[in-house]
Amino acid sequence: MEMNESQHWNIHGNEELNKSSVSVRGTLNLISTYLNTDDHRPVIAFGRADPSSYPSFRTSSSIVEALVDAVQSRNFNSYPSTQGVLSARRALAEYYSRGLPYQLSSDEVFITTGCTQAIEVIISVLARPGANILLPRPAYPHYEARANFGHLEVRNFDLIPEKSWEVDLEVVKALADNNTVAIVIINPNNPCGSVYTYQHLKEIAETARKLGIFVISDEVYAHMVFGKKPFVPMGEFGSIAPVLTLGSLSKKWSVPGWRLGWILTTDPNGILKKHGILESIQNYKDIAPDPPTCIQGAVPQILAKTSDEFVSGLLDLLRTNADILYEKINEIPCFTCPNKPEGSMLAMVKLNLEQLEGITDDVDFCSKVAKEESVLILPGVGVGMKNWLRFSFGMEHCSIEDGVARLENFYRRHKLH
Ligand SMILES: *Cc1c(COP(=O)(O)O)cnc(C)c1O
Repeated sequence: MEMNESQHWNIHGNEELNKSSVSVRGTLNLISTYLNTDDHRPVIAFGRADPSSYPSFRTSSSIVEALVDAVQSRNFNSYPSTQGVLSARRALAEYYSRGLPYQLSSDEVFITTGCTQAIEVIISVLARPGANILLPRPAYPHYEARANFGHLEVRNFDLIPEKSWEVDLEVVKALADNNTVAIVIINPNNPCGSVYTYQHLKEIAETARKLGIFVISDEVYAHMVFGKKPFVPMGEFGSIAPVLTLGSLSKKWSVPGWRLGWILTTDPNGILKKHGILESIQNYKDIAPDPPTCIQGAVPQILAKTSDEFVSGLLDLLRTNADILYEKINEIPCFTCPNKPEGSMLAMVKLNLEQLEGITDDVDFCSKVAKEESVLILPGVGVGMKNWLRFSFGMEHCSIEDGVARLENFYRRHKLH
């Protein structure tokens, strides 16, 4: 057929999606285009929070065996129920009930395709016309991207670096109105590496109660703490305000590629159920793709058999890396890391542009560091904080040392004279 210039195609990309799609991976892909392929040094990946391919972070054999056993049982070859395989939901309810003042039931657990889908589900459920949601700044960017795409209005409250990245509750109260549906917190925190105290979490719950909203607590890094503060699950305060907890196997079990996550409610007063949130989650799940049944089938054994040594080994390495990063980075004048990370595998570092010559902003900095030193860092804009940087220290110990040394060289070449 001949090309006809006047042919009209009614085909369009989705401009709105293109605009709302801010993601860690998208931002890093952009920065990666600056990498110099002639540099034969290994790339130091401070940008990605996925250490699962490093030998020290490889998942344990008991986790792999759990999956092999699930596959070999041939019990998990059918479609799962859309809420999730019952044995997995029971095991998760059991696992989360430990340490909580009440018992969770399998009805309160929904299995999702990673924590990513948990975010998609809950944001979609909440996105009704006129509604708004309170999101932290900085934050894991999926929340804002999903909300923008779903026309759920976003209101940002700041996390305060001088107060160990705690939530500014006065701002939260000022931002909320009758159309506010929920507040999101991330604890242990991505991107700040902070861990909230019992007292602070309680205050967040009390604020939510005053506002008549519930708390969405992203605990994808649950128990991954290595400082002085213990990890306290938000569910602890479920009787003050209802809590939806999001989690996954991706971080603590070091299998992000298995794409298994969950939503669970800690709501002893049954408020979420009474107000139709659970029904809406179920209806959304009924039309969403399920995570593979065999991976769900492995969950009970994964939770039962993961050894304490595996987890404490990861935490020891993260603690050492956090110490090195915090100390060494603060010796370089163009950086300030205000708080030593105490959890997750991430830290926010302020970029002191006035110490540098010819660098315009965080994106410019990250592009040049990629090009000249083969070091990948996530620019702060990717998590909502311009002229800051997000570092992941989930990597081999020697890579941290090497990466920081390269940054020091970069600083020497670009410092203001
Ligand atoms: C990694 C991460 C997620 C996504 O988790 P997956 O299980 O990999 O989908 C969600 N929230 C935060 C804060 C994360 O760091």
